[in-house]
Amino acid sequence: MTTIILKPRKEESVLRYHPWVFSGAIARIILDADHRQPEPEEGELVRVLSSANQVLGVGHWQIGSIAVRLLAFKTDVLPDSFFVDRIRAAYRMRRSIGLMREDNTIYRLVHGEGDMLPGLVVDIYGSTAVVQAHSVGMHRQRAQIAGALMDEVDGLKAVYYKSDDTLPYKAPIVGEKVGYLIGGQQSTISPRQSDAEAYWAKENGLEVRIDWLSGQKTGFFIDQRENRALVERYAAGKDVLNMFCYTGGFSLYALRGGARQVHSVDVSQKAIDLVNANVARNFPNCTNHLAVAADAFDYLEGKVSSAGHDDGVKTYDLIILDPPAFAKHRDAIKNALRGYQRINAKAIERIRPGGILFTFSCSQAVDKEMFRLAVFSAAALTGRKVRILHQLHQPQDHPINIYHPEGEYLKGLVLYVE
Ligand code: SAH
Repeated sequence: MTTIILKPRKEESVLRYHPWVFSGAIARIILDADHRQPEPEEGELVRVLSSANQVLGVGHWQIGSIAVRLLAFKTDVLPDSFFVDRIRAAYRMRRSIGLMREDNTIYRLVHGEGDMLPGLVVDIYGSTAVVQAHSVGMHRQRAQIAGALMDEVDGLKAVYYKSDDTLPYKAPIVGEKVGYLIGGQQSTISPRQSDAEAYWAKENGLEVRIDWLSGQKTGFFIDQRENRALVERYAAGKDVLNMFCYTGGFSLYALRGGARQVHSVDVSQKAIDLVNANVARNFPNCTNHLAVAADAFDYLEGKVSSAGHDDGVKTYDLIILDPPAFAKHRDAIKNALRGYQRINAKAIERIRPGGILFTFSCSQAVDKEMFRLAVFSAAALTGRKVRILHQLHQPQDHPINIYHPEGEYLKGLVLYVE
């Protein structure tokens, strides 16, 4: 096994169980004898030692600023049962907090560092697991991971692998980045062409069609489950706008909560088709929902008229604003904050007196304080009186490893706007 030796004092964070070794912390690399290249192979297992030769841990090597993602500490051996053990622990946790129920068959089973499996995400949709590798090491071990999932998850029939946009793009990678690892239809039949029941799963009793083949991420944004339930509590009798709706998760809860009217808006027509399918499935006789494919800024500025509402700029009692990550990297933070400020100001202007705004950021690089500051500036621009009712975050199946605060990424504010 290749050995990575750290510079003096660079072992401190690893001794506190932080799972990342940055490339700048490395003093020396001692390759094992089989290497033909002058550096470790991307994705191989390496052992990490302190400058005083103390064994710190073992993990996946990666080319980039995070050079090693540690899988185990204070040892340089990974037992054969490693994935089975970690997946079992993750599964037990989800079971013990009551997420696996007949009326809730959607949950995140593995949340990377939060489940001590850096670089791995596994989402469960009924009898299908969708696996994403964010590191070449996890990619190389995908067959073992699929096997461990089949061993540990009750009733699992298929494991679908979807790492086309999560693996580092520079890496020359052996093996397919997309496709069924176990089970599934071997053809490329898409959920929209097929009404296969397998594609329907349940979140808190609501049925959602999951398009893991061609949808965004693993097919659904599971991380908003608890926040959607809060929208349901506030929706009765209200005119609701679900902006950046994707497949309409928030819209379904608002409708079930008794909203007077729900408008769902997303720039993607594919998403809008899925929202309509989801609403029709749960509320077959629904007449108070309208989905519009439009750009968020255009819509909030009144440049797009939704069918039947040609009265220019509309106002709402409750708006949900859940944009994609505006900052994918630290160097994009400034622009991201400006983006959050602009979109929030537009939304606050569209809230009727005494209305509510649910506003979110899923950019990991923008922390709670920065986001709150951006929303504060947005409020100040509008001059409205604004109170914070709730501070929201990611749910319990997206846990944060206490030694890895970077795992916190989703934050939201619920505002009362006078
Ligand atoms: N709220 C959703 C998840 C939102 S993901 C849920 O609960 O499932 C972000 C969405 O924003 C994506 O569906 C993407 O298509 C959409 N989007 C990106 N840019 C947009 C824009 N400029 N205007 C409107 N929608 C946009």
